[in-house]
Amino acid sequence: MQNAYRAGHVAVIGRPNVGKSTLTNALVGAKISIVSPRPQTTRHRLLGIATFPEGQLVLVDTPGLHRDQGKSTATAMHRWMNRAARGALEGVDVALLVVRAGQWDEADSFAYEALSGAGLPVVLVVNQVDRLKDKTALLPYLAQVSEGRDFAGVHPVSALKRNGLEALVKTVLQHLPEQDALYGEDEITDKSQRFLAGEMVREQLMRQLGEELPYATTVEIERFEVDGRLLRIGAVIWVERDGQKAIVIGKGGERLREIGAKARQQMERLFDSKVFLETWVRVREGWSDDEAALRAFGYHD
Ligand code: GDP
Ligand code: MG
Repeated sequence: MQNAYRAGHVAVIGRPNVGKSTLTNALVGAKISIVSPRPQTTRHRLLGIATFPEGQLVLVDTPGLHRDQGKSTATAMHRWMNRAARGALEGVDVALLVVRAGQWDEADSFAYEALSGAGLPVVLVVNQVDRLKDKTALLPYLAQVSEGRDFAGVHPVSALKRNGLEALVKTVLQHLPEQDALYGEDEITDKSQRFLAGEMVREQLMRQLGEELPYATTVEIERFEVDGRLLRIGAVIWVERDGQKAIVIGKGGERLREIGAKARQQMERLFDSKVFLETWVRVREGWSDDEAALRAFGYHD
């Protein structure tokens, strides 16, 4: 007898940088969520739709929760990211708790308690197993973190190398309700191409700028037009000070060109189209702590 089709929402939860967005992309089979070696790359809640013959996972990729260091120092941006992470649990059927192999800390215990306390099946995803030098350490680690916890499944995977994902999908599907697909099978995200274009530019800012600067930048897509077989995209990179503008542009405009070139390549791959991308850098003081500016830049629920 054939199994019934299953579909539902799957929250992807975990500390910054464990690989939540990489996992979401690997399951969806396309790069829709930006990834960088920096924590706090993901700022928006984003749905990744992964459709299989047996069912459909609607993955909710989240910005990790931030510890508010007291109301006065948490910026409006951090408050917004926390709201997006908390809101991610509404209407969810299963939670994936993602950790990095060999690591577990209080925040993970706290997340497990919160998720299982909310009545959700929690599947533990032990990611980045490709980075483990001593593979024999994996079994004792799995035993240790499972001790006293009732996981709906424990899956060592490498999101980067796409190892272990089939078994993970199988486990997750078992915990989704029997129902028809929630999205069309060719849909991969709830976000518009316009939004994704901005994210591709932001990813390059995260990757190519020094320590502090990425957090002082955001991207606004001013123009997104289909021109025959070409996409014409205009992106404004907003910074907070003149000095930052000079850094983003770089000597003779070199850095901005490199950011634009890499972002354009990513867009062409995702949109399967030729892209003509123009970029500008503009200054708006204090945008990241200005609620009105945040809304104007698309940080709204
Ligand atoms: P997030 O903050 O949890 O969304 O983490 P990201 O998906 O942005 O990944 C953070 C960093 O870890 C990036 O540099 C990824 O390339 C890297 N990464 C994610 N998954 C894996 C993995 O399975 N193996 C390895 N070696 N690196 C990974
Ligand atoms: Mg992420």
